[in-house]
Amino acid sequence: MLNRGDYWQCGFVIPKGTLDQLRGKGLPAFRESVARLAPFAANRVGELHSWESIKLLTVQVDRLLQWHRPGLLCIGDAAHAMSPVGGVGINLAIQDAVAAANLLAAPLRIGQVTTEDLHRVQHRRMWPTRLTQRMQLFIQNRVIRRVLSSTDTLTPPLAVKLLARFPFLRRIPARLIGMGVRPEHVR
Ligand SMILES: Cc1cc2nc3c(=O)[nH]c(=O)nc-3n(C[C@H](O)[C@H](O)[C@H](O)COP(=O)(O)OP(=O)(O)OC[C@H]3O[C@@H](n4cnc5c(N)ncnc54)[C@H](O)[C@@H]3O)c2cc1C
Repeated sequence: MLNRGDYWQCGFVIPKGTLDQLRGKGLPAFRESVARLAPFAANRVGELHSWESIKLLTVQVDRLLQWHRPGLLCIGDAAHAMSPVGGVGINLAIQDAVAAANLLAAPLRIGQVTTEDLHRVQHRRMWPTRLTQRMQLFIQNRVIRRVLSSTDTLTPPLAVKLLARFPFLRRIPARLIGMGVRPEHVR
């Protein structure tokens, strides 16, 4: 939940393909489940007057085989759609932009950008994209799917237990999330 000053923006995760089921149970049932999860907002869920207030953002993780054509380069989500897992999609998009600036500034300055120049951007950014998407899918399949499909109290996976026990280990995910696997610097 994000405090936007005069309203709360809330994310409510549902397994893919279950929106109709959720709607079928009716808006009052949906309001109740939000209130159960965030009791402090229980007296405000009436603000959800209709399903119009609830937007579906479908999560997908994929990438183009080729990020460029003559005169066109796709970067960020246009080249590789990112899931919200880890909150790294924006980092990756900005890093693509920095890599593109570093690799294309000189050819753009002389007005001669070749397909090879564009391919250099894809070549540089493909590996961090693949690795980051693989990590997102791992967390999605091993952690989030388990949580969504279970009503029992779950025990955290070993990796999470280790992070809780040894604080210095938390630097690893912090670095991966904050800086990514191939940080870019403006040259
Ligand atoms: C539900 C959800 C939650 C997410 N949460 C996070 C998070 O917390 N942290 C994080 O880092 N990432 C998150 N992500 C991923 C993140 O949103 C994307 O990876 C990131 O926004 C990609 O940035 P981008 O600039 O490439 O594309 P976008 O942010 O999609 O920007 C593209 C822009 O182009 C505009 N546009 C489209 N067509 C046209 C047109 N024809 N003419 C002009 N403009 C146009 C769009 O309006 C948009 O503003 C989330 C993704 C989803 C689906």
